[in-house]
Amino acid sequence: MDLKGKNCLVTGGGRGIGRAIALQLAEYGANVAVTYSRSADAANETVTEIETLGARGMALQADATNFAKAEEVINTLTEEWGSIDVLVNNAGIAQDNLILRMSEENWDAVLDTNLKSVFNYCKAATKPMMRARGGSVINIGSVVGISGNAGQSNYAASKAGMIGFTKSYAKELASRNIRANVVAPGYILTEMTEKLSENVLEAIKTETPLGRAGNPDEVSNVVAFLASDLSSYITGEVIRVDGGMAM
Ligand code: NDP
Repeated sequence: MDLKGKNCLVTGGGRGIGRAIALQLAEYGANVAVTYSRSADAANETVTEIETLGARGMALQADATNFAKAEEVINTLTEEWGSIDVLVNNAGIAQDNLILRMSEENWDAVLDTNLKSVFNYCKAATKPMMRARGGSVINIGSVVGISGNAGQSNYAASKAGMIGFTKSYAKELASRNIRANVVAPGYILTEMTEKLSENVLEAIKTETPLGRAGNPDEVSNVVAFLASDLSSYITGEVIRVDGGMAM
């Protein structure tokens, strides 16, 4: 896979799945900027690794819920590197609770971080991608956005909303050669899932035909493919990376 010359942005790219995505894009030759909200050290370490791979890297502090910040990030990237070719909306949080116990704050925080952020970065990146006559947007969803999950109504709604947004965006921008797809992981071993109890992890294994949780590289493999020209005829698609869980 060859991503040489492509300028990429991964929101929340300093840790977890985002970090695996950033490093894999760089391994294939892309320049990669990552954003973070709190984890500056992790983001800077990721950039050091990107640069070790011979690519250009950049870490930018930007709360993904903030539209003005998204515009600032895209402007910085296009001014410094000339274009944005690949946008990966990865930043996300979970604040799980049964609906009777879920607070308005839980709802707003998860919808703002997981869904409004996608609007923020897609809107800000569209003009530069149109000027460059093409681009690839990859939104990191979740299988629960397809299947739903008790205790995750806010998270599932944010990821289901992302699918509707992505398909609409893909239809609007297809004539400009801008593609948009969703990668929907199942259970992937990161800090987000390491809080799960042994019982829950055992249940996940039982419910997953491949019999195990996934790792971040298994998600970034698909993201790299969607970022590349190998996927040039794929848009508006949702690709599950879930060991068969939601089939
Ligand atoms: P982690 O908790 O390990 O990492 C989350 C990342 O998002 C961090 O880099 C974090 O940066 C960033 N982030 C969170 N809030 C914001 C914000 N307001 N602004 C900017 N960045 C932010 O999670 P994962 O790596 O596991 O998850 C990554 C994506 O994959 C998420 O969208 C998640 O919903 C999705 N996903 C994960 C699954 C899993 O099993 N792990 C399954 C399905 C989907 P910082 O620390 O600086 O805030």
